[in-house]
Order: sequence, then structure tokens, then C-alpha cells
Amino acid sequence: MSNKNVVDVFPSTSEIIQNDSSMFSSCEVCGKQFQNTSACRLHRVKVHKLFDKNNVADSRIHDRSEGESITYLYHCPNNVCLTKKSAFDGMRNLKQHYWRAHMEKRFSCSCGFRSALEKDVKYHMKSRCRLRSSQGK
Ligand SMILES: [Zn+2]
Ligand SMILES: [Zn+2]
Ligand SMILES: [Zn+2]
Repeated sequence: MSNKNVVDVFPSTSEIIQNDSSMFSSCEVCGKQFQNTSACRLHRVKVHKLFDKNNVADSRIHDRSEGESITYLYHCPNNVCLTKKSAFDGMRNLKQHYWRAHMEKRFSCSCGFRSALEKDVKYHMKSRCRLRSSQGK
């Protein structure tokens, strides 16, 4: 029997689609500047013992320091997905799902394949497109 705790996490849409690496953050307690939000969070949790229970990354850092074993299930904020109770075992997986399933599919291939992610379409054109295989004979 596993006594692992399972925590359901419901990130907001903006949390899912934000690009962490492109943001600068500063600590609201001491004003120290950080190159990304995760470094700032780590600082806030470790130095000031501040963490936001609703903030996944914060609570994860906190739990790690408590030495508990907790499984996080990330839920898609989309209504359809919520009723289906589909959950993802990582923020990365949820992000990937959200982009593929719910974001406007702005990029397309001439075969009709569409995606919200340009890299998906590029990958499709290179390796999976049916037009490509029929041309190549
Ligand atoms: Zn600080
Ligand atoms: Zn979804
Ligand atoms: Zn195609």
C-alpha cells in the first residue's frame, strides 16, 4: 500500500500559457532581483519562508523541504476537461495539452493539419505529413 498524498492542482489559464523564462521578478520582501520567477520563488520560500498554497511551484519547494512524498495532479482549467477529470502528472504535460487542445491553432500545413504551436507544424511537415510521403515516391 502506498501512503502517498495526492494533491490536486488547478492552475489558472494564465499560469499555463505564461512563459516563465522571459519574465523578470523581484522579491517583494527584500527587493532582490531575479532573472526568472522560479529563482525568485525559491528565494522567497527558502529565505522568507513565504509560499502561496495555490502556487504550485511554491508548494512544491515547501514540500520538498518538509521531506514529504506528494504526487501532484495538474488539472486543465477548460470546462470540458474538468468534467472529464483529466489530470496530468506535471505542469509541462498540462501546458503541452493546453496548447494542443485549447489554444487557437494559428499554424497550419497545406494538408489541413493545424496546431497552436509552430514547432508542431514544422515537425509535422518534416516527418508526418501525408502530402510529403505522397510527393516523395
Ligand atoms: Zn527576499
Ligand atoms: Zn484541456
Ligand atoms: Zn501536412
